[in-house]
Amino acid sequence: MKQYKLILHWFQVVFQIEVVINEKRHIAELFQSKNKRIKVPVKCFYVNVANHVFLIDAGWSEKVVENAKKHLGFGLYFASEPVMSRDESARSQLNGEHIDCILMTHLDCDHISGIYDFPNKKIFCSREEHKYSHINRIRYGKLLKNRTFDYIDFKDDEKAIFGKSSDIFGDGSVIAYLTPTHSAGSVIYKIIEDNKYYLVVGDNGYMKESWEKGILPGVLYDSGNMLKCLKWIKDKSEDKNCLGILCAHENM
Ligand SMILES: [Zn+2]
Repeated sequence: MKQYKLILHWFQVVFQIEVVINEKRHIAELFQSKNKRIKVPVKCFYVNVANHVFLIDAGWSEKVVENAKKHLGFGLYFASEPVMSRDESARSQLNGEHIDCILMTHLDCDHISGIYDFPNKKIFCSREEHKYSHINRIRYGKLLKNRTFDYIDFKDDEKAIFGKSSDIFGDGSVIAYLTPTHSAGSVIYKIIEDNKYYLVVGDNGYMKESWEKGILPGVLYDSGNMLKCLKWIKDKSEDKNCLGILCAHENM
């Protein structure tokens, strides 16, 4: 079987997560003192399947190397303080290789910033996420200003975890599931080849421990949905056809 060519980006970020309280939740405190923060990677994924070549999420932009405060705005900069060298950006690591488009799991700054390095690519997100980002400006900040997105075309699907799925390329190779969990329009992508699959879950869990122990990510849109989703991910992780669960901030 062909191996997926997944590029994992290890951008070190001083991020606002990972303090475990009561083993129930990875707490995110925007104004938590800096010495309580730990560094976690920010990853995006390069996927090559069934002749489709694309990124899932975009990580940090090279603009954070130039002037992170200017790029993110003070609020987002203070909350996440990205640390990255220019050669760690997705564009740099792609090294001129073509991608068709970028599929977003959601629009938080550590996932969306890198689209600034791909000004001519189509960027897909859920309609729900785009709408939510415009009524929740503090969380999403200024990065979405003047950016246009293509919407994922979700259809009713009673087998999908929250009833909505989309066959992104129409050939069954990439299925998106709408998951109103971490944000209103978060998306999980299933990458399928020969009945085997990877799940790229975005921030539906910050790490393996999240679904194995049911630990909630700090930032939540709907905690009940997130618990349901973590249980679903755990079930999938035990499926013999599942090749791996990939989330954005796991140290691996
Ligand atoms: Zn994130």
